[in-house]
Amino acid sequence: MDIYINITYIIAAVLFIFGLKKLGSPASARQGNLISAVGMLLAVMATLLTQGLSFQWIAIGFGVGALLGIFSARLIAMTAMPEMVALLNGTGGIASLCVGWSVYHYMPDNDLFTSVTIFLSVLIGGVTFTGSIVAWGKLSEKLPGKPILYAGQKFVNIIILLGILSCGVLYSLNPASSYTLFIIAVILSLLLGILVVIPIGGADMPVVISLLNSYSGIAACAAGFVIQNNILIVAGSLVGASGIILTQIMCKAMNRSITNVLFSGFGSTGSKQSTGIEGEVKPITVEDAFFILEAASSVVFIPGYGMAVAQAQHTVRELAELLESNGAEVRFAIHPVAGRMPGHMNVLLAEANVSYDQLFEMDDINPIMETMDVAVVIGANDVVNPAARHDENSPIYGMPIINADNAKTVFVLKRSMNTGFAGVQNELFFYENTRMLFGDAKASIQGLVAEFKD
Ligand code: NDP
Repeated sequence: MDIYINITYIIAAVLFIFGLKKLGSPASARQGNLISAVGMLLAVMATLLTQGLSFQWIAIGFGVGALLGIFSARLIAMTAMPEMVALLNGTGGIASLCVGWSVYHYMPDNDLFTSVTIFLSVLIGGVTFTGSIVAWGKLSEKLPGKPILYAGQKFVNIIILLGILSCGVLYSLNPASSYTLFIIAVILSLLLGILVVIPIGGADMPVVISLLNSYSGIAACAAGFVIQNNILIVAGSLVGASGIILTQIMCKAMNRSITNVLFSGFGSTGSKQSTGIEGEVKPITVEDAFFILEAASSVVFIPGYGMAVAQAQHTVRELAELLESNGAEVRFAIHPVAGRMPGHMNVLLAEANVSYDQLFEMDDINPIMETMDVAVVIGANDVVNPAARHDENSPIYGMPIINADNAKTVFVLKRSMNTGFAGVQNELFFYENTRMLFGDAKASIQGLVAEFKD
């Protein structure tokens, strides 16, 4: 039987890898999800063929898990997806902790390798669980989003980590008589998860969740070694590696290092105001903006966090269709960290049925930005701030941006002159070719749609 199980595991692993590959593009992401799900189904079915399983417990776990999965997937709003992902990471972490703990509970006298893997699955699983719960609390505003900082914080965290590692070494050397040390390591791991996430600001939670996602994979991989299950090792490694890659991509797109995200308490010192911006702000009315759009032959929409807040995506798609039927070529420029989670804009535009081939990544739209008649910035701010290109004193200096300012005319749709996530004023708003269309993004776009329909 083992040979059949392992062959099925290999097929499942190949499907996971194909699935991941297809998740790389919005056009193939649904297919990728399906392929990975089929891989997981095969893996679960093969695992159920293992000798000596207790099927009544599996059935109970399956029933409870399926019900929770179905209800949460149906009830959670698309905008609450990052919170949902945080909770799912947390459950992955606690599952690995429970696997390690139960194996130790039933077989306290293990060899060194098994003891080390049990310890790792408990340590990483524990940190992932409580860290994810805190991340969920911050994102859902059940906990204060501001970084919680205190003197000697890093020192305290290092001492706790050293305490866990000491317990781990002593336990691994003599597992049979180290139950107390093991329990201390469990408690300290849970505590460490809370302490490492509280100093991180709410707005940085998507990066933290991506990192915790990676941890949950590593914890699952360790649990796979504990119970000697090959597919758990493979799946855990894939989650671990892809989580780290995503974290890296997000940090690069924000021009910040992972250590800056984890340890700087970004967002704790209030808004920074950059000085010395010259030029004046030129507001525009919906009617005047309509006349310019009506004459445009190429328009690029640049959505940002404000589009998500205003839930303007459906109205934006309607305006795009009206512009197209008026003869304009319409594109959507997507910045990798626009919004507050990876792929935020892709998700919203896909929900509004915007065609994938109208979506342009930053590197593809920037070279042709000069040919655009109008760039319509919808609730984006930091991701179009030209200071990132030249102002070395700006906190966002070096962050790759969408060069909206290179378009012939720029409309910026936002409610006020307030700053965005990074807390810096945007010099684009003062440029000669920029016009500010103040108001809620959805209301402004609805106004433009109404003008086109008149
Ligand atoms: P920003 O946070 O820079 O700006 C959003 C703008 O939207 C604000 O200036 C706000 O101005 C405006 N806004 C808010 N509500 C509305 C509304 N109802 N109608 C119209 N405008 C509105 O967003 P960006 O998308 O440009 O940049 C994302 C930022 O988040 C980057 O700094 C990025 O590094 C950071 N980040 C992104 C993550 C990700 O994974 N995507 C993760 C973590 C951080 P006003 O109040 O005047 O309306």
